[in-house]
Order: sequence, then structure tokens, then C-alpha cells
Amino acid sequence: MGYLQPTTVHGRRGYTVHNPVDGREVFSFAVDTAAEVKEKVARARAAQPAWAATPVKERARLMQKALALLVERNEALAAELTLETGRAALDTLMIEIYAVADSMNYYSKRAESSLREQSVGLHLLRHKKARLVPRPLGVVAVISPWNGPFVLSTNPTVQALLAGNAVIIKPSEVTPMAGLAAAKLFADAGFPPDLVQVALGDGETGAALLEAGVDKVSFTGSVRTGRKVGEVCGRNLIPCTLELGGKDAMIVCADADLERAAGGALFGGLMNAGQFCSAVERIYVDATVAEAFTEKVVAKVKQLQLGRDIGPFIFEPQCAVVTDHVDDAVAKGATLRAGGKRNGPYYEPTVLTGVTHQMRLMTEETFGPVLPIATFRTEDEAVALANDNRYGLSASVWSKNGDRALALAKRLQAGSVTINETALTYGALELPFGGVKESGVGRVNGVDGLLNYTQLLPIIADRFGRAEEAVWYPYTPEKVVELRKGLKVIFGSFLRWLL
Ligand code: NAD
Repeated sequence: MGYLQPTTVHGRRGYTVHNPVDGREVFSFAVDTAAEVKEKVARARAAQPAWAATPVKERARLMQKALALLVERNEALAAELTLETGRAALDTLMIEIYAVADSMNYYSKRAESSLREQSVGLHLLRHKKARLVPRPLGVVAVISPWNGPFVLSTNPTVQALLAGNAVIIKPSEVTPMAGLAAAKLFADAGFPPDLVQVALGDGETGAALLEAGVDKVSFTGSVRTGRKVGEVCGRNLIPCTLELGGKDAMIVCADADLERAAGGALFGGLMNAGQFCSAVERIYVDATVAEAFTEKVVAKVKQLQLGRDIGPFIFEPQCAVVTDHVDDAVAKGATLRAGGKRNGPYYEPTVLTGVTHQMRLMTEETFGPVLPIATFRTEDEAVALANDNRYGLSASVWSKNGDRALALAKRLQAGSVTINETALTYGALELPFGGVKESGVGRVNGVDGLLNYTQLLPIIADRFGRAEEAVWYPYTPEKVVELRKGLKVIFGSFLRWLL
């Protein structure tokens, strides 16, 4: 089975990427040195001012061109992306191509209104006028993981570019081709040279990028790396968003549509072979319907085919984590109802019951096609179990009673919650996406997602041009008396309701 192997490329440190299914070599690259990364950032910085001066309408027009190319080339692009991930065709089309197409379209259509300057009426300082001016930040670093390599490299880049920034993409060393494919799309659509560049390499390259003078970091990856990235950004005082791991809980109430809930469990837990941040990783089902639900899940899982429905391990070492979690659970008393072992480059879709929070399978991110099912007796217990985790990315509630589901959803410690649905929020671009607890810091996407890549510059101007203001120097006892009177008049009377 092939995956990433260290190699030497023209005498330089590099990697060879292998296809996860058949092991053939698909790509070799030399790791960019810290000096090369710095040089890329310098070129991006030189290209950015002209881009910032380009009207937003023109930026959006180019983004629509990139979208047209994406649609035109979708089959070839999907085939290229599949070389390094080996995954199921539908996964690539849905997670990567559709999501990027929607991001390009959604944000380019809204860029002009999102990024327009606004005048702001000031409630107290009515004798002043104010404007809010969104200004690009400069050069944005987009550091992405291997599990959704194209969308997680491209979606932040789309937003940063429309907002007037240059971008350096640092794709995972496991999936470098996705970063290169993204940059090529922008170049072919006519975005200016050096505006979008790719730094190839591993953690060392990512670390070099953080020190190369970038103005913002959009990081998606593991908690372990996210902490390091957050520390460096803190030291260098660079804003960052950290989209990290998850251990999403799914709560199935006794009054849920069990057929739909079982289907949702499969899609939410097994899509991309479970290798996505907001995958269903823990299922809590009301004890009174647990067996009926489990039987439906097991029956559906048995119909799945490796390769067609369940992709391979994109990064082969992940197999050790999944195997360890399942074996640990079985050793501690869990019952295997389906799967439970590796099969070539794949892991069989797996269902376990009798799981507890003493098992790593229920506490740590598994990132594999595994559905552990536990039971609860009361809603309070369901909420306590779901919240008993260091992660808090997303969660789902399944019930036919809308009020009950909503009330439960509001009690969950998660960045987002779905009801009778799963894994949708990152794709609903109107909504902010991110985690609580160890699942991350900051939010991405949302109606005003583009503003996350700007500085909102407030400009206040005087209106009347008087020679001086009431509180300017010199400070006199009379001014103190006047100010005290003013406090009473403004905030101690009905006038405060007019502010
Ligand atoms: P990872 O943390 O190992 O790597 C992510 C990226 O960081 C890679 O490009 C890597 O080269 C780079 N990197 C490594 N060390 C670095 C350093 N010191 N400084 C800067 N960059 C460095 O993550 P992974 O294993 O590629 O991805 C899987 C993880 O990503 C899972 O935990 C998953 O849950 C998470 N993820 C989160 C989201 C989300 O939106 N919350 C989405 C997808 C994946």
C-alpha cells in the first residue's frame, strides 16, 4: 500500500505521493525551503496592491471565470484529485468540486455588497460622521489538511482573493496536487501572476510560512498542529482562524424517524470513509429504540461496497489509529455488529454497540468509517454524554418533535447543530462555521465571510468645523460641572431612550 514517502528530488529533500488504492507513484516534489517561502511571500506582497486597487466587480468577474473553468474541467479535475486521495467518485464530486463551485459563485455574487463602504450613524456623537471601509489585509496563508484538500485550500482562498488579498496556499504534504490544482485554476482564469502561489512541503514549510511575514492565517487541521499555529500567530500577533478536529455526537430520540436516522448515521459517519472533521463519531440512541435503530444501521452498512461507497485511507498511517480505537473498544467489552477490520487499502464500515466513555473510540478523534452506538435513558443523560468530550465541532439531534429537537440542540456544546440532518453546516455558506472547546478558534464562511479577510477601518470625521470641542483643553472646573450636568440630562432622563 502506498502513501507518502520521503525522497530526494534533484538533490533536495522531498516526498513521493502514492495512490492510496493501488500504490502507484503519482507525484514527487521538493520541499520549499524557508528562504523560498519568504521569497514567495515577498512576490505576493508585491502583487497585492494592484489587486487591492482592482474594483471588486472585476475581482468577482475573474472568480466567475474560474468557476466556468471548474465546471468545464470538472471530470479531469476530479480524476486528478482522486490520484492522491483514491476516494469514491461521489465523495470527490460532492465534497470538493460542488463545494468549491458554490463558494466561487456565492461569494463572487455577494462580493460587491459585502465589501462596500458604509456610512454609520453615530448614536451619541451626532455631530460627527462615520464610515466603515473594508481594507484587504495583505498576504493570507491558507494551510490545509489532507482530508478535503481541494475545498479546504480553495474556499478560504476564494474569500481572501475577493476581499483583495494575495494568498499562499500550503497544502498538506499528503495531498499537494490539490493545492497546485487550485492555484492553476486561478492562474488560468486570469488572476494576476504571483497573487496565488503554492508553498509545497510539510510542517517545516508551514512553520516557515507563519514566520514569513503573512498578515493572516487560515488554518485547517489537527488540534496538535493548531495549537502550534495558534502559539506562533500569538507571538507574531497575526490574526488566525483555527478549524480543528471533532468528535461529533448524534442524539437519536425515541420518536425519531429511525429509517432516516439510520441513513443519516451512515452518511454522516462514513462519507469520505469517515475522514472529515464533522463526521458522526459517537451515536447516542434512546435505549427503548436502540436495537431497532442498530439493526437498521447494520442492514444498511452491509449493502455498502468498498471502493464504490467507502474510500480508502487517504493517509495510510491513519489506519493504525482506527484499528487501535476499535481494538481497544472490543477489548473493553464493546460488541462488533459489522466490519471491524482492515481490508486492503480500506477499513470495513464498522458498527459497534456497548461502547462507553472509558474507550478511546468514544473520546478521541477516530477519523475512520466507524459508527459506535451507545444508549441513554433521559434527555439529560443524552446531553451530558454528548457534552462529555474535549471537542465541540458539530452535533446532530434526531426527533420528529421539532420543539424537543430544538431545545436539545441549544444545550449541546458544539460550533453548529443539525436536526434530522448531518454534516451540512460547512456547505451552508450563509452560516458561520467553526468549533468550540478544542475544535477551534474563530469562524469561517457566513454571509459576511469576506469581511474576515479585511480590516474594517472606521473613519470618523467632524461635521461642523467649530474652533474647539467642549471637552478639549484647557480642563477647567466649569467644564467638569457642565459635563456632570450633561450626564444627568442625557443618561438620567428620558433622553437616553432617544440614543
Ligand atoms: P495536520 O494538523 O497534521 O496538518 C494540517 C496542515 O498543517 C498540513 O498542511 C501540515 O503540513 C501543516 N503543518 C504541520 N505542522 C505545522 C506547523 N508546525 N506549522 C504550520 N503548519 C504545519 O492535519 P491533517 O492530519 O492533515 O488533517 C486532519 C485533521 O484536520 C483532523 O483532525 C480533522 O478533524 C481536521 N480538520 C478540521 C476541519 C474543520 O473545518 N474544523 C476540516 C477538515 C479537517
